[in-house]
This record gives sequence, structure tokens and C-alpha cells, in this order.
Amino acid sequence: MAQEQVLIFDTTLRDGEQAPGFSLRPAEKLLLARQLDALGVDIIEAGFPIASPADAEAVRRIAAEIRRPAIACLARCHRADLEKAAWSIQPAEKGRIHTFIATSDLHLQAKLRISREQCLEAAVDAVRFARHHTFDVEFSAEDATRSDFDFLCRVVEAVIKAGASTINLPDTVGYSTPDELRDFFARVRERVPNTDKVVFSAHCHDDLGLAVANTLAAIQGGARQVECTVNGIGERAGNTALEELVMAFRVRADRMPYHVGIDAKQIYPSSELLTRLTGQPVQVNKAIVGRNAFSHEAGIHQDGILKDRRTYEIMRAEDVGAPWNPLILGKHSGRHAVQRRCSELGFELEGAELVEVYRALMAIADDRKILTDNDIVAVVSGVRTKQPTGQEPIDPFDTPAAAGHHALHESGYGHGV
Ligand code: MN
Repeated sequence: MAQEQVLIFDTTLRDGEQAPGFSLRPAEKLLLARQLDALGVDIIEAGFPIASPADAEAVRRIAAEIRRPAIACLARCHRADLEKAAWSIQPAEKGRIHTFIATSDLHLQAKLRISREQCLEAAVDAVRFARHHTFDVEFSAEDATRSDFDFLCRVVEAVIKAGASTINLPDTVGYSTPDELRDFFARVRERVPNTDKVVFSAHCHDDLGLAVANTLAAIQGGARQVECTVNGIGERAGNTALEELVMAFRVRADRMPYHVGIDAKQIYPSSELLTRLTGQPVQVNKAIVGRNAFSHEAGIHQDGILKDRRTYEIMRAEDVGAPWNPLILGKHSGRHAVQRRCSELGFELEGAELVEVYRALMAIADDRKILTDNDIVAVVSGVRTKQPTGQEPIDPFDTPAAAGHHALHESGYGHGV
């Protein structure tokens, strides 16, 4: 099946870095930009130069060093912003100016206090000005999804005429639903002339937890650039998570036959570097990059994983460059998993000794969230150095009458669904 290319526009260093607690120094931004290059993103949005001299410097350093991806930076539709943006990307092999203005009446009236006509004029002027500095100009209609549809279409038509080559229609406040966003992109592309000559882009926020679903829907509506961030960081609840989008394409290529130029093995290293530089941990249950994303505690799951990973995993940790520590031992774990972990730690246990160690560990696990390797070493050592009492521990499940129970005991009691 011929696969259409979807461009990955990474805004970790702009929208992501803008979020509270995520600010980075220029040298740190450069480290991340190198990693994003290794990850294979098509466009790196490196910053918002007018926001601070440090940000302008960061963009310029990244533009000077990183050659393969396009280097973009953000600018409002103001002369000073655009001039600073042009200066910042000047050393780039492929430099992009990304200019934006809000198009919703709410933003125009309450925030910008300008009329629709003033908005239209500012947008066209900004795109024309940016085009004097680079051929690669992206225009964003901020709050596009809450804008008057006819007015939005007028703006899009005018900025295409003025020379914008990428049209981004952001769901700035994460308000849209997937079917709505798919239709929205399809309708704009159908209504406005010359939309086949530009790339449409989706920029979604996760306020309702729909950013990834909305982005996939926008692609169905014709978007061929997606804006996303590592770990899904960004304003408020964050942006579309790059790793979730990329792995959705990969795991469900049967439903979404799109090509992205990402080296998935660099996903986890990118996540880890971002976490290290910002000091902001990823939630443990985060898809793809969370600590629990490829781990199993429930005994029934562990038993399945030990027999065939595909029973409870739709992708492999190593596919995204993550370490695979599948068996988390806790109170839901079974004897099979305990035996396996002990063996990995150098203790071959079976029979009565295994039963005794298993019981001792489960007693500890009742009071704890997770059993560590230290707990296991301590318990096994304790059991092995104990003076023989002459009394073998009795396994209540080792009787023929309990044969039915035995299988369950081996796999533990965790929920199976
Ligand atoms: Mn945003």
C-alpha cells in the first residue's frame, strides 16, 4: 500500500518549553535539538525569539548547527517579532518563520481588541514580510476551531495568496472532538481555493485528553503536518504526544497507512533526556514512555507474558528504545513470576523453598506497593540461612483436591481483564 508522508513538526522547544516548570537554557535546548534530529523529526520549532534574548539566541544556535530538519520559530504578526524571528533563523539550512494571529471573535474582541478586517490585514502583511526572509512560511490561525468559519476561510485564502506554504489550524484550547476536527479540515480544504498547493497542519491540545485522537482525525481530514511534543508537554494539559502518534501509526498501520520519518528507537532516549533536563517526571502510566507502559504486576498477566509477550503487549519496549522490565512484583504477583525474578537474581528456587520465599514476599507485599530486588535478596537469604526446623512448609495447593486452584495460584490473583 502506498503510504502518504505525514510531516512531524516538533514543538517541544516552543509550546512545550512554554509550560510552567519546563523552561530550558539555550545550551539545554541545543542538546534536545540534537536529540530531536536523531529522532528524525521533519521540523524543529526551536523557540519564540521575541519572548526573550535567550530564546532568540537558542534558536540561532540551533539554526546554525542542526542541518537536516527545518528550523522554525514563532512570531506574532508584528514587525519586531518577525524581524527577530528572521534574525534567529538566518544561519539555518532550512529556516521557517511561523507567524500567527487569533481569528476567533472571542480572541479578537477580548484579547487583541481589533476588528476582523484588522486581523486579516495583519495576517497578510506578516506573511508577506516573512516571505522576504524565507520561502518557508507557516501561518497559524490561533483558536481556529472556535473561529467563525467564513471569516477563517477568508483569512486562509488571503495568506495562501500572500505566500504561506503551511496552514496550521490549531485547536488552541483543546475544545474539538475528533469527528468535528476531521470535517473541519476537510471543509476548509474544500472551500478555499489553492489548498492543494499548501500543507495543512494540525496543532491540538489535550485539555479533554483528545489531542492524539483529534490529530489523527485531522489527518483523515487532509492535514499532512502534525505538531506535537515529546512526552506531550505543552501549555496547560499539553500538546499531542509525539510518541503516541508515531506508535499509533506503527502499530495500526492497517488503519493508518501514513509514513513518518521517525526512528522509533530514539523515542525513549528523547523522553528521558527531556525529563532529565527539565526535572519534570513523566506520569507512571503514560502511554509508550511511562514507567509502567511495558510492566505487569497482575499474576494472570505476568503468567501470560512469560508464556508469550503478545498476550498482553501490542508493541515491544525495545521498539521505542525503552528498557523492558516486565515483571513488577507486588501482592498481585504469582509464584511463576517470583521464581523467574529469583532466578534472574541468581537464586534457583523450587518446591518447598519457593513456597516459603513466595509466602514471605507476599506478606511484605501486603504492606508495600512494589517488591524490590533488595526485598527478594533479603527474603531468600533469610530463608536459606535459617536453621532447619525439621518442619517442611506445607503448600495448601499441593494437594490433588486443590488441583483446580493450583493453576490459579501459579499465575497469581491479579485481575485478568
Ligand atoms: Mn499551542
